[in-house]
Amino acid sequence: MSKLVITDLHVTVDTEDGPKEILKGVTLTIKEGETHAIMGPNGSGKSTLAYSIAGHPKYTITGGSVTLDGQDVLSLSVDERARAGLFLAMQYPVEVPGVSVSNFLRTAKTAIDGEAPKLRTWVKDVNAALEQLNLDPSFGTRNVNEGFSGGEKKRHEIAQLELLDPQVAVLDETDSGLDIDALKIVSEGVNRFRQREGKGVLLITHYTRILRYIEPDYVHVFVDGKVAESGGRELADALEAEGYDKYLKANA
Ligand code: ADP
Ligand code: MG
Ligand code: MG
Repeated sequence: MSKLVITDLHVTVDTEDGPKEILKGVTLTIKEGETHAIMGPNGSGKSTLAYSIAGHPKYTITGGSVTLDGQDVLSLSVDERARAGLFLAMQYPVEVPGVSVSNFLRTAKTAIDGEAPKLRTWVKDVNAALEQLNLDPSFGTRNVNEGFSGGEKKRHEIAQLELLDPQVAVLDETDSGLDIDALKIVSEGVNRFRQREGKGVLLITHYTRILRYIEPDYVHVFVDGKVAESGGRELADALEAEGYDKYLKANA
């Protein structure tokens, strides 16, 4: 069972001119087994939504709520959010100096499960995950994000997703900077995750391209800090054909 409920979420970010409201009342429910795509123009607040759910300190929640299976997510620390079953892959992942991919994954898994994974099965699982993502086993010995190409960063994100096995995954611009082969590999990883029992996915993207490989159950158009329209997959096709113009005009 996993259900992420976002209700009338308002968020400000600190700027040089003082706090600026970015999220202006976001309401969205992701039930178990559902994949939702959030699509919107640049600057509409999509990443702010992801960062707010993740608990990034730069963003201040001024109203509304986020719950996972009824538990108040916003009162949890970043670590507690992960332990509660949330996974947030970020648009701009940070370098972790001096920590290898293998150690990073094992430390994260241990923190989330509350106990270290059994070494033998863990090594097997890690190698299988890397192989499926077309990453060389030696990738595990590299330092996290140090000198990673765009594609390696994204594939590392999906390796985390598959190994950490959260309940709900928020993926921000997982498709950005990927060539078509890498996009397919990454999408297949997300689809493997979706096939597991009861998983929820919030897929945030600017382009419709990835939705050819990861078919969402619901599509939401995000404009000026809130959901402007919700629908099924056909909404993504309409966006592909018509772009965001009509929403931006309606909003001007
Ligand atoms: P999107 O991901 O949809 O492109 P963002 O959430 O990144 O949009 O940004 C939404 C708006 O909030 C933009 O106008 C952006 O300039 C502003 N913003 C976001 N984060 C910050 C920040 N840390 N400092 C200042 N402005 C920010
Ligand atoms: Mg409101
Ligand atoms: Mg963004």
